[in-house]
Amino acid sequence: MEAGIVGLPNVGKSTLFNALTQSKNAQSANYPFCTIEPNEGIVPVPDERLARICKYIPPQKTVPAILKLVDIAGIVKGASKGEGKGNAFLSHIREVDAILQVVRCFDDPNIIHVAGKVDPLSDIEVVEIELMLADMQTLDTALPKAERAAKSGDKEAIARAEVIRKCQAHLATDQPLRKLKLNPTEQKVISSFGLMSMKPILYVTNVDETDLEGKGPMVQQVRAFAEKVGAEVIPVCAKLEAEIAELEPADRQEMLNASGLTEPSLAGLARAAYRALGFQSYFTAGEKEVRAWTVPVGATAPQAAGVIHTDFEKGFIRVEVYGLDDLETHKNEKAIRAAGKLRVEGKAYVMQDGDICHFLFN
Ligand code: GDP
Repeated sequence: MEAGIVGLPNVGKSTLFNALTQSKNAQSANYPFCTIEPNEGIVPVPDERLARICKYIPPQKTVPAILKLVDIAGIVKGASKGEGKGNAFLSHIREVDAILQVVRCFDDPNIIHVAGKVDPLSDIEVVEIELMLADMQTLDTALPKAERAAKSGDKEAIARAEVIRKCQAHLATDQPLRKLKLNPTEQKVISSFGLMSMKPILYVTNVDETDLEGKGPMVQQVRAFAEKVGAEVIPVCAKLEAEIAELEPADRQEMLNASGLTEPSLAGLARAAYRALGFQSYFTAGEKEVRAWTVPVGATAPQAAGVIHTDFEKGFIRVEVYGLDDLETHKNEKAIRAAGKLRVEGKAYVMQDGDICHFLFN
């Protein structure tokens, strides 16, 4: 799962990204299964259920689900026409699963705003318009091709042309594609286009240290807007997060307490991105490792096994499943089995959030 950080210049993107990558060395040591490029950072997705599992199945190590963040610099007005680093910027966005837009909500006369004044809604609009313009270009290029193929009776091309026209008509109403309702077949037809205004978006409002909860008028404006477009809002003070990230872990809690935070805001950010993407977790639990794995809501058991290793999906036989409440009631797997609470599920099983699983495969 990958999310791209975007935003206008001087809104605090680098500060936020550095806060995320500050403890990068420690992080890469913790995630040897994950390659990290210089413009990428990794944030664990905190999940209190891991600790609850570990209470009964103490492992040598605990591995949370992770969110990979990519710093995508360079959006300015006109990016879709190639202004600034326009094209590079857009091709990076095509590759991510979700967009995190950092929106400046802090007042600081010393820090120049590209548009001359701090105006979160106008910043959001600039980015949204560039994404929509780029999508229009993509669709305008794709339509004649699909129509040509459709003329020769190619059924897939006929369907493709139809969805393209539907998307074009929606964009013509100045609405991002995120709000367009498509059925699963239509979604599949259009998925290879990498349409950007269709991706889930999360607004990270970069607030003053005096407004960590985001109660101020600027964040409220963003919240009202986000509600209309189906986006989430997470207030973060990038400057404070960067300071917290630089501290030794032992000093961090003290700084958090002093700021009135229970955890770094980056933790909430990771969870919100996870939700916005429609992901859920399942767990594997043993003496060696208790670990959270990420699957899309609606994934089947073989697909979930495939997240651990691609071969596991093909060789899937069955899965033994129980819930955290079973573990808390019966204290160990043997007792769960004896109580008849260990379910055996086959290929058609749809994973439920929080399932604890043993996969059996060839
Ligand atoms: P970018 O261009 O979006 O990457 O922005 P930067 O992260 O480089 O930040 C631009 C300037 O704003 C820097 O001088 C930061 O120190 C400052 N800045 C970033 N976040 C905050 C914040 O939360 N509060 C204040 N007062 N300044 C900030």
